[in-house]
Amino acid sequence: MKFSLVADTLSYMENTTKRLELTQHLVDLFKITPHEIISKVVYLLQGKLRPDHEGIEIGIAEKIAIRALSKSAGIPIVKIEHEYKKMGDFGQVAAKVLEQKTQTTFITEDITVERVYDTLYRIAELKGARSQDMKMKYISSLLNDATPVEAGFIAKIITSNLRLGIADYTILDALAIAFTGSKENRPMLEHAYNVCSDLGRVANGVAKDGILSLKNFQVSIFSPIRPMLAERIKSPQEAREKMGPQFAAEYKLDGERVQLHMQGERIILYSRSLENITNYYPDIVERIDKSLHAHELILEAEAVAVNENTGEFLPFQELMHRRRKYKIAKAVQDYPITVNFFDVMLLDGKSCLNMPYKERRRVLESIIKEDSFAKIMPMKLVKTDGEVEDVLENAINVGCEGLMLKQLESPYRAGARASNWLKLKREYRNELGDSLDLVVIGAFYGRGRRTGRYGALLLAAYDEQTDTFPSICKVGTGFTDESLDQFYQILSDKITIKKDPRIDTGLEADVWFEPEVVIEIVASEITLSPIHKAAMDKIRKGSGLALRFPKFTGRIRFEKTSENATTVDEVVTLYNNQKKIVQDERQN
Ligand code: AMP
Repeated sequence: MKFSLVADTLSYMENTTKRLELTQHLVDLFKITPHEIISKVVYLLQGKLRPDHEGIEIGIAEKIAIRALSKSAGIPIVKIEHEYKKMGDFGQVAAKVLEQKTQTTFITEDITVERVYDTLYRIAELKGARSQDMKMKYISSLLNDATPVEAGFIAKIITSNLRLGIADYTILDALAIAFTGSKENRPMLEHAYNVCSDLGRVANGVAKDGILSLKNFQVSIFSPIRPMLAERIKSPQEAREKMGPQFAAEYKLDGERVQLHMQGERIILYSRSLENITNYYPDIVERIDKSLHAHELILEAEAVAVNENTGEFLPFQELMHRRRKYKIAKAVQDYPITVNFFDVMLLDGKSCLNMPYKERRRVLESIIKEDSFAKIMPMKLVKTDGEVEDVLENAINVGCEGLMLKQLESPYRAGARASNWLKLKREYRNELGDSLDLVVIGAFYGRGRRTGRYGALLLAAYDEQTDTFPSICKVGTGFTDESLDQFYQILSDKITIKKDPRIDTGLEADVWFEPEVVIEIVASEITLSPIHKAAMDKIRKGSGLALRFPKFTGRIRFEKTSENATTVDEVVTLYNNQKKIVQDERQN
């Protein structure tokens, strides 16, 4: 197929912004495209060679493109650079300088879509020291044989400047009209696209087999599925109204969504936006197969940073330390994670998308063997508002953002934000307005880098009425190596053989101290807790108050005695203020 047909379509499209006209140009092009190359045409129209998740980039530096153009047109580099500065669009420059050339020479042969695509593909694959010269040769040979209009688009594609913005959905419309006879069939194409995230593959199927290809469109390994999304709700009642008498309440962890594709030994991980993120998680690639009992799988999980000493979940930001090109091994060691699976989409060649949630969950539980690294997302079946609230409270206490509520009978709806999944978050202001001064009452031995020192401290507020030190949180973040050493020394003088009778906590520390040392802490929120005893029964029967995401500020309050620490009454006031802020924000 002549490349000029694609180039002409792109030219028409450049001159209109009307969606109907854009679609019609595409329909006309698709109808004359041989089936075997429809996927190549679809990719080229969007300035790509393959779907984004495959990470194949044409990626040519402007310098090389300019050199190639100079060679093809027989015009000095400086002149081209000058034109480029003037016009600001490399495609237009290429078209202009080649226009001048065609007036003096003959074009040898028509260039085809296949030739353009295959040449660009070869360029994308070139690596290594000599690759720049080779790239230049390939480009200049293409440009040599191209008409000015064609050269303009080739130049734009290779420098990633094809900015026509042909949306995926416009292409789906055009494919529906061209190959199924009606735009009404768009939803079926959209479904196929959501299942494989590859427009070329959808185009190829529908061009060859029409509607039939869509009816049987299958999930396939290493083609990421567009993730199912949740609607936000504000209260457990809303969930009951939307979900019926019984539904699943899963923890909503605050990490990174990971879609894991595994076939034998090969594993690829995709992010929520379907970027290949395998490189950031070498620990998953290395360790996960021990826990997965199947040959071929697509699973969804939330990867969450954890404090290895305390087992607590850490906020999402901690994971960002892994987003780097170098020293990944160190980041993996310093920022350990757990992988918490919550869905299964493919098992040994069979799609699970149409299975109801409860069935998928059963499959998940049957194929995952949990250990300290691989987990199944905690879930409880719930019926009443009270039950939802209980799970929410537990979730918040272990560091979750809230809950995901899921309908038991619903299929996995790829790419859809639907009311089969609801998210119930605990809303709060990012930070408590104030820092707190808390008493160190116990400690837990460190592991890894913190071996031989304390990994986390147990802290208490002061209860003036009972003259006790009820615990309020465990803190493991905010410490430097020096401060850890310093604590080890200061606290070794305070160790007691038995727990001081004024200490009140549901936790068993490794070491207990005289309640004397006061340190400054910031936190994101105060939550209800069954384990911590500060303000026990004051807000709710059976619950105390705890700090969420506490962090040591670096200040030891040497000037304060433990009776000067933040009191339980002050904590209650902070908690009530925070609730008021949440309510105010909801009303606004
Ligand atoms: P949001 O980003 O607030 O719209 O919440 C949706 C995100 O929550 C998903 O993309 C997942 O990364 C994350 N998530 C955490 N726990 C779960 C869970 N149990 N089920 C589904 N998604 C979860």
